[in-house]
Amino acid sequence: MSEFKPKGLVICVSGPSGVGKGTIIDELRRISPDTIHSISVTTRTPRPGEIDGVHYYFRTTEEFEQMMSRGDILEHDCYCGNYYGTPRAPLIEATEQGHDVVMDVTVPGSLAVMKNFPDAVTLFLLPPSFTELRRRLTRRGTEDQEVVERRLQKARDEIEKTRLFQYVVVNDEIQQTARKILSIVEAERCRYEQMAGIEKLIMSK
Ligand code: 5GP
Repeated sequence: MSEFKPKGLVICVSGPSGVGKGTIIDELRRISPDTIHSISVTTRTPRPGEIDGVHYYFRTTEEFEQMMSRGDILEHDCYCGNYYGTPRAPLIEATEQGHDVVMDVTVPGSLAVMKNFPDAVTLFLLPPSFTELRRRLTRRGTEDQEVVERRLQKARDEIEKTRLFQYVVVNDEIQQTARKILSIVEAERCRYEQMAGIEKLIMSK
């Protein structure tokens, strides 16, 4: 069935800051190396160890606004005083080539994706408890206390939007969470919309 090449899926992962989206996405890519992570553009300053072009494209506000006005940004959000956005071209190109693309976006970003890509798989990651979320954000040690508090406040609002997502996974343990997400992706690949046309191909052989 080598001629049957459906488009890749857009997998939109959201959840409060500190829930472990980055770690889970790294794990997904480790288990399933064909999966592409959409590298976002941001105006926030890099954290220690973050590399431009790997974790994010770090840009100035002016550069970000120029990208937006050129239509290079597919969705964006202003989160805790910084812009974050998804570059359009790499995502479209990768899915056209049949690669699944995982995005890590805020709730408003997910809403824009739901509108523009009705076939996108949307998933919300929850922490096992709010206390644990606070612990994870504080332990990360990359933000000062005031930023942690702002992110926790934001987290409360985001968690209230859980019901807008197709899938909800509680991120208790990394490997287990990644396995659950991969099962979701496998199931989504078997939807008729993804497989449309395969029956004709099979009958022609
Ligand atoms: P952080 O500063 O912790 O890396 O990210 C802050 C928030 O921005 C996280 O909730 C993350 O999911 C979100 N984010 C990262 N990239 C994008 C993006 O391209 N678009 C949107 N809308 N949110 C993003």
